[in-house]
Amino acid sequence: MKINQKNSSGLGLCSGGLDSILSGLVLREQGLHVEWVAFETPFFSSDKARKAAAVTGIPVTVQNITKPYLTMLKAPNCGYGKHMNPCLDCHALMFRMAGEMMKAKGFDFLFSGEVLGQRPMSQTRPSLRYVEKQSGFDGYIVRPLSAQRLEETIPEKEGLVDREALLGITGRSRKAQMQLARDFGLTDYPAPAGGCLLTDKGYANRLKDLFACQDQYSENELHLLKHGRHFRINADAKIVVGRTKQDNEQMERYIDPAVDVVLKVRNFPGPLVVIPNGADKYTVLLAASVCAMYSKAPADRSVQVKVISSKGREDVTVSPLAPEVVSKYLIH
Ligand code: SF4
Repeated sequence: MKINQKNSSGLGLCSGGLDSILSGLVLREQGLHVEWVAFETPFFSSDKARKAAAVTGIPVTVQNITKPYLTMLKAPNCGYGKHMNPCLDCHALMFRMAGEMMKAKGFDFLFSGEVLGQRPMSQTRPSLRYVEKQSGFDGYIVRPLSAQRLEETIPEKEGLVDREALLGITGRSRKAQMQLARDFGLTDYPAPAGGCLLTDKGYANRLKDLFACQDQYSENELHLLKHGRHFRINADAKIVVGRTKQDNEQMERYIDPAVDVVLKVRNFPGPLVVIPNGADKYTVLLAASVCAMYSKAPADRSVQVKVISSKGREDVTVSPLAPEVVSKYLIH
């Protein structure tokens, strides 16, 4: 049944994974105009979605949603998955924001590459329903890969989307998607899973620590959680120590010279150390001793450490701290 299909258009959520790529291609195959929106935060990027757009020619709009995302992340209605991943409320928020964009830009419906039964938490039938209801756009979310196994949506009922040309894929096997990819001539697509730091144990622990100690955090601080070893000194102060040269380089990108304190050992190779938002003099000296401990300076010698803050630069002389003292501050 194709009643009004000719001019209809869909706006899809795109993670850049194979399923979201296929969802766009399946709809485009039936002559619909499709575009994507990709959301980014410090926890997940839009890089794969941009690549998917380049490979398929489907336009993508990228939007940073860190602020509303953090509000949701602090108290998700359905709680967290294994770590700090609030998958159901994450999807609901994304569909709500995509729905606002759908209305503003005149699209007829939303779509995504979700597959019924593929993920134990977020892609069960009740989970998909929860997301629809919470999004505020119940009935307008088409899931082209599983549509024939789901309730008919409003755009399908209205003939804007041809239900018969949608698919009925379910479950965890990816065979059907791989066959579909071959049918569409897709060879270069990312491996499934991965990419969301909220599912990473180490990152989640560092984030929990930040939430426990601060009410406000900059995006830089959230990015900084990805790099280095993190030591919680007290409720007001934390030390971040680069592990590798690459870590040091990445950390430099997220330093805010207006508020952060940066330390580096003089005369010996050593890590970059950052105190986000600065700290009192005692903590700066402690950070200098930690910095010395992780440097190549001999453990039994006093070491000069350069301290850079918005107030200027100074050198402090410290002894490297004993590893067993340092380890008690480590956020695991
Ligand atoms: S894995 Fe991360 S990005 Fe994906 S739904 Fe869960 S919280 Fe959202």
